[in-house]
This record gives sequence, structure tokens and C-alpha cells, in this order.
Amino acid sequence: MTDPRRSLPAVHALLTLPAVEALCERAPRAVVADAAREALAAARSAPGDAPRDDAGWADAVQSALAARLRPSLRPVLNATGVVLHTNLGRAPLADAALDAVRAVSEGYANLEYDVERGARGSRHAHCVALLRELTGAEDALVVNNCAAGLVLALAALAAGGEAIVSRGELVEIGGSFRVPEIMAASGARLREVGTTNRTYADDYARALGPESAAIVKVHRSNFAMEGFVAEATVAELAPLAERAGIPLLHDFGSGLLQPLDAHGLGGEPTARDLVSAGATLVVMSGDKLLGGPQAGIVVGRAEAVARLRRHPLARALRVDKMTLAALEATLALYREPERARREIPALAMLTASPDALRTRADRLCATLGARGVMARVVTSEGSVGGGAFPTARLASAALALAGPAVVLERALRAGTPPVVGRIVDDRVLLDLRSVPATDDPALADAVVRALAALQPAPLLR
Ligand SMILES: *Cc1c(COP(=O)(O)O)cnc(C)c1O
Repeated sequence: MTDPRRSLPAVHALLTLPAVEALCERAPRAVVADAAREALAAARSAPGDAPRDDAGWADAVQSALAARLRPSLRPVLNATGVVLHTNLGRAPLADAALDAVRAVSEGYANLEYDVERGARGSRHAHCVALLRELTGAEDALVVNNCAAGLVLALAALAAGGEAIVSRGELVEIGGSFRVPEIMAASGARLREVGTTNRTYADDYARALGPESAAIVKVHRSNFAMEGFVAEATVAELAPLAERAGIPLLHDFGSGLLQPLDAHGLGGEPTARDLVSAGATLVVMSGDKLLGGPQAGIVVGRAEAVARLRRHPLARALRVDKMTLAALEATLALYREPERARREIPALAMLTASPDALRTRADRLCATLGARGVMARVVTSEGSVGGGAFPTARLASAALALAGPAVVLERALRAGTPPVVGRIVDDRVLLDLRSVPATDDPALADAVVRALAALQPAPLLR
């Protein structure tokens, strides 16, 4: 028997093929050589699929090279209908935020420099005035994310003492953020009160004692409790904490800054509501409903925020200039609520009317049809995501692609940029609720390209 592996070319032979030589203009020779080795290894492990001629080898090297040159982190079109999709990077940034990132990052910036005094300044000074203005809080601090904000607040204010939490709020917020574990990591001792479904202000009051260091209230975020339930509000807990001389920490999560009731997302307080209800500190994410960069925002009483700022962990959890720039520009948009709703992509997508989505879907469907991709417009349901408004269903419009769902879904994900949709009843749905309106042409292009790559094309006329 002949060993098929013996007929494989050598690496240097592949590198002398003209088509492979040409690749060396696009990438360093060593990287092309690695791609050639990878193509050879693939042929060795699957001899049946090994290229049969020079053109085949050049193709194999070229696709191995393309995979090596492609960035690991790259843009994706989110057609899942989930607006704040944590796996897809949560909130897309507003143009103003992107411009601000570029402006302070392409050169130097006054990150820790007081330009007026000509002396060292503090990175913690940025965003503070805007956060005070928008929430009514005395002071503010920005750290890496909401989880970091909570750890820092507990470490600075409750380490070594008891943090009182309702049994109904010992939650897991995805990605290994579990309230009891965060407590342990911060050095506070968890003191559980109440029951899973019902906790009253009295339960907290009875737990107060010499060991008490903080009352902690956690937004349940990613699930809802219904039926025989009761919970104590921030307004009820604030006087208890005040009398005991301990802080009331509220892990708010979503970072809602302006009400969305008019758009079917009601019943949630804003950060300003919680500050005025008496929370000592409110901790929230920058990249959920706030619609900015990943960040943890702590707002509240000046004395408490000052203790967080002084804690050694604050240095470990600090944010960079790009985050501060994006956050400041995003916050500035909130000075005009209507402008925030239009220009912050997360808010624009969450508040888009079903009619507007339907119109876009009809137009896209026609564009795709003209380019040979068969689809239908169907009604759909999107959601907020990011652990906010977990039960809200947002009426939406989607394109249902004709053809074998599993094959199409995989081809869309393999495209450039990848398109992530969902499969419902054996059809691929591309939901426009999570697609910024300005991305419609890009979505059409990506779909046409991805499906054209399918051979034989199952739905191209
Ligand atoms: C999302 C969420 C967190 C985690 O936020 P990150 O910014 O991802 O760290 C913490 N607490 C609550 C209540 C949340 O909703």
C-alpha cells in the first residue's frame, strides 16, 4: 500500500508557488510559512481532503493565512433581538462617545493633570460633575464594572463586619457574579434575612446589632418574582440604616438614568430616584441601560465615596482614559433626554417603534430579494438583555430566511462580519430590534456574501 502522506509537498516548495509568494506581500514570510505548515498538517490528518494540485495548495495556504490575520476581537452584527447582549459586548457606543475616545487616545490627555493649576490632578475627577448633575448625588466614582463597584463598596465600608442581605436577593447575575461570593471576596460577612419570597423592613431591623456594617440591597435584575412576594424598598431601608449609623448600599445593576415608561419599559426606578430615596451608595453598570462603555459607576454620599476612593482596591479597579472619555460623552447626551434616546444606540434600539422596525424589515427584504436571497418578514419578539427588564418582550420585526436553518445559521456566523441570528421553528430569524438602523445596508451585504459562499447555494436563485 502506498502512503498518501508521502506525496505531500515540502513547506519550502509551497512557499515558492507564485500564488503563495504573492501572499508574502500581505503578511510576514514567517506567518505565511506557519500557514503553509498548518495546511500541510491538515492534509496529513485528513489525506482524503488534501489539495490535489498547486492551485488547491495555494487556496489552502491562503485560508490558513486569512484565519491567522483575522483579529480575535472583531465586529459582529447582532440580529438576535437581544439589545444588551452580554456575549456580544452589550451596549454599542454613541458616535459622540467614539469621537471622544479617539480624541483623548490618539495623543495625550489631562487624565491625571490639572491644566489650570499646572499640577498633578486626579483621574477620579472626570465624569463626577456630570454624574452629580444627572443623579442628584453628592459625589461619584467610576471603576471597572458594576461587580468591581460592589466589591469596592463592601471592602471599604463593610469589611470585617456584617452585611445584611435579603434571602431573596442572594442572586447570581451570570458570568459567576454571585452575591454571596462577592461578599466573601470583599471581607464582609453575609447576614441573611427574610425568606426567598418575602422579606420585610422588620427583618432587617431585627438583624441590626453591633456587628452590622451595611445593609445591602441587590436588584434581582435577570429574573422576576411573582405571587406571594414582598420586599423592602430603598426608601424603607434608608431610615433603618441611618439610625444604625451604617451605609445602605444598593446594587442597582442596569444604570437606568431616564425613565423608559413611555416606550413600554416601565416600573423601574432611575438612579436619581434611588439616590433621593436615601441609598448611601448606588452601584451600576455603564454598558447596560445607560448605553455607555463597560464601567462601574458608584454615586452617593460624599463621605462614603471618599472612603472608596481612598481604599487600595480603587487603584486596582480603576478605568483608563478611553473608558472615561466614552462615559463622559455618553453622560453628556443625557442632558437632553430626547437626544439621549436618539443618539445612544441602546436607547434608540430599545425605543424603536414596531412600525419602524417593520418598515426597515420590508425594505431589507426587498433588497435581499433583488440580490437573490429569499426571505419573508415576520413579527418577532426581542428583549432588553443585560439582566434588565427580564420579562419585557419587545414587539419586533424579523427576516425569516428560506432554506435549511442549521446550514444558514452557521454560514451567517462564518461570514465577515459574522451575523448572529436565532433559529425559531426551523427558520433562521434576523431580528431588527438589535440592529442599529444605520447597519441595515451592512446587514444586507453580510447576508448576501455569507450565503453566496454556500456551495451549492440552497436559496440563491
Ligand atoms: C449586571 C449586574 C451586575 C454586574 O455588572 P457588571 O457591570 O457586568 O459587573 C451586578 N449587579 C447587578 C444587579 C446587575 O444587574
